[in-house]
Amino acid sequence: MKLKEKVAVITGASSGIGKMIADYYAREGAKVAICDINMEGAEKAAEHLRQSGGQAMAVEMDVTNEQAVNKGIDKVAEQWGSIDILMSNAGVQIVHPIEEFPFEQWKKMLAIHLDGAFLTTKACVKHMYKQKSGVLLYMGSVHSHLASPLKAPYVTAKHGLMGFSRVMSKEGAKHGVRSNVICPGFVKTPLVEKQIPEQAKTLGISEEEVVKKVMLGDTVDGQFTTMEDVANVAVFLAGFDGNALTGQSITVSHGWSMN
Ligand code: NAD
Repeated sequence: MKLKEKVAVITGASSGIGKMIADYYAREGAKVAICDINMEGAEKAAEHLRQSGGQAMAVEMDVTNEQAVNKGIDKVAEQWGSIDILMSNAGVQIVHPIEEFPFEQWKKMLAIHLDGAFLTTKACVKHMYKQKSGVLLYMGSVHSHLASPLKAPYVTAKHGLMGFSRVMSKEGAKHGVRSNVICPGFVKTPLVEKQIPEQAKTLGISEEEVVKKVMLGDTVDGQFTTMEDVANVAVFLAGFDGNALTGQSITVSHGWSMN
């Protein structure tokens, strides 16, 4: 087991990629805090992990709310004694051309992706610095390296996470804390399923064309990345021994981006 008795906080873990990472972490022996705004989903995911012999708790958390984040992280630390891994993963997608992008939706996107990373990091490093160890992981995207039309705030936020993680690798080093970004290509989750008809409508093409041309056109083999692929990378980065691997990003995208 690569993460035996490690305490992992995963945001956005009641669905999609975060839920799969929670599953993989629990199988590797970690105690997993499923943090999500969707408490019903979080309870269900935690219960599923406990039924399978894992250790898990559901934590209600809107990652854009400082009080909720601090309260949630402190609850995990109180119950399990430390915070060893943060997987900042919660995210949403909203697509519009810039001239139609409502300012409120721009702010919401930056808040969930960037404020969420900042607030959860600030709350976790308090515990990690005390114990002189910790792993910070951020869910970036191929859009941390490349741009696509209609996704101004998403691309901005995902690029921003690269800078934030690099700062954390420098600030965290003397406290034994390392920081890295995972950059997946398109993964079939509710976040992506929702985009297919939206993009078809905005671009005036069929849903099949959105998948073949827009989403997978630049991969080496026309394949979706899977939640399992991303979870494997998340286990590798969380379990890596020592501080050599920090300030990096790993792209898992069937060659869509080769950065
Ligand atoms: P998803 O919609 O399946 O899951 C997102 C989760 O985040 C949900 O459980 C949702 O309730 C939670 N969430 C939303 N707002 C929140 C908030 N304010 N506070 C706490 N939780 C909140 O989506 P997913 O595809 O699994 O995406 C997870 C992450 O992976 C996101 O950061 C996304 O940008 C990133 N990502 C996804 C893909 C993809 O193709 N699916 C590709 C690259 C990166």
